Amino acid sequence: MGDPDLVAVGDTDTDTHADTPAGAVPAPGPADAAVVPIPVPLVDGFGRVHRDLRLSITDRCNFRCTYCMPAEGMPWLPRAELLTYEELTRVARLLVDRYDFDGIRITGGEPTVRAHLPVLVEKLGALRRADGRPIDVALTTNGATLRLVAHDLASAGLARINISCDSLRPDRFRQLTKRDALGDVLDGIDAAVAAGLDPVKVNVVVMRGVNDDEIAEFVTFGRERGVTVRFIEFMPLDAQGDWTNDQVVSHGEILAAIGAVHPIVAADGRGSDPAETFRYVDGQGEVGVIASVTHSFCGTCDRVRLTAEGQLRNCLFALDEFDLRGPLRAGAADDELAAIVERAVGTKWAGHSINQVQFIRPKRGMSQIGG
Ligand code: SAM
Repeated sequence: MGDPDLVAVGDTDTDTHADTPAGAVPAPGPADAAVVPIPVPLVDGFGRVHRDLRLSITDRCNFRCTYCMPAEGMPWLPRAELLTYEELTRVARLLVDRYDFDGIRITGGEPTVRAHLPVLVEKLGALRRADGRPIDVALTTNGATLRLVAHDLASAGLARINISCDSLRPDRFRQLTKRDALGDVLDGIDAAVAAGLDPVKVNVVVMRGVNDDEIAEFVTFGRERGVTVRFIEFMPLDAQGDWTNDQVVSHGEILAAIGAVHPIVAADGRGSDPAETFRYVDGQGEVGVIASVTHSFCGTCDRVRLTAEGQLRNCLFALDEFDLRGPLRAGAADDELAAIVERAVGTKWAGHSINQVQFIRPKRGMSQIGG
């Protein structure tokens, strides 16, 4: 008998709703009639300029990663509460036109479970900054069905992709995700490379006693496949609330484990990238560490997040959300939406306080916020 928790990837939770397919013409919204103003920087109270949008398009996922959500019992959003592709694009266009946003990363939940994903990529890829440059459209995915859609996503204008994979050992992968899908994910990584997505990055959440003995294997994997592996510190964003500090494998421990197999040196020019990047001394690629807990990078944060049901958040760890869906559906003009965006960014904290006594976990987990 198989594990009762296991179902074939794509069998459950697949969101079959239809968004506007390619070629259909959406009804014009207020934004279509508006005169596009000259963009101004979207600056918070600490001088940080915001140019990057994390766009969650669903809270559903075809995996059940133990560190992210329970195997059963997640309360999914009803379909009608999700923003449509037209609504998502309207918000994205506002941020590009008003504030010169230059990057949009589509995430979830698992974004590939939403129907017609290439349609959304095409809509976002058609956005232009004031100087005519396109937006950098990226995707974060578990990669399970990527071999089926990588080509279409690339053709629709997807530039880059991050694929999550927390173990290279089939049994452990199955225990971690509750899906027997390591082969599919590895095929997905190959498909992304073959489709010409560049760069392809592989995200690994490192957890003490769970997969921290695989750092060397991932280093070898990344070097051999020509993909950049990024090790992520475990954050207190699991829906179950089981996170404890001692499960975090720190930045220093991760670097030591990488350096033990292949010497590395820091790469230049991190900018607002959450990952600190290192080059292998022998020139065979790069590796990254996203140390949100022990070496937080809030000081250079340039991100805002939109949840799948249209709540704007100024931080993964924010306690407040700013509703855009209500005003959007009530016919708000761009000026009204922009005022909400500015209020949201204006209340951004200097940084999260994970390691301090006053830290309060957000009510929602990573998959509901959009990772
Ligand atoms: N389903 C997609 C995927 O698997 O990449 C996108 C959404 S997922 C929530 C985005 C990223 O968040 C993944 O790399 C996942 O491993 C990471 N993640 C989820 N929960 C986390 C946690 N508690 N701490 C650190 N990273 C987490």
